[in-house]
Amino acid sequence: MNSLPSWLTERCPPWCVVVHRDDDPPVDRVHYGEIAEVRGNAGSDEALRVFLRRHTDEPSVSVGLSVGAEDHALEPAAAALLVDAVTRALDQIRDPRAVRVAAAGNPVAATESRNCRSDGVGRQGIEP
Ligand SMILES: [Zn+2]
Repeated sequence: MNSLPSWLTERCPPWCVVVHRDDDPPVDRVHYGEIAEVRGNAGSDEALRVFLRRHTDEPSVSVGLSVGAEDHALEPAAAALLVDAVTRALDQIRDPRAVRVAAAGNPVAATESRNCRSDGVGRQGIEP
């Protein structure tokens, strides 16, 4: 069994997979969850990595997204909006007309609709 480092004053969250050490510098005192890699990044061989993270000095969990050296941290609510946006984008590939009806009243869809022509002419270029 590993003993906790002196700086770690609470148990790791159940999703943490990191082995914390006494000599971890303060900036690296972060709980990390398992990394899910998504390959198929257009124009790059690098995978998109998705994981949970929470610095031990912070109360809230974020969803980390990284490609290469580029890192982003989303609040869980923002990550859920990202999932919805990706799902809607994929739905547009499958059936563009179904997405317009299903997205009514959604804040992301409202932003999208401001940028599109209401007659649908602007969308014809992206339809399969
Ligand atoms: Zn931990």
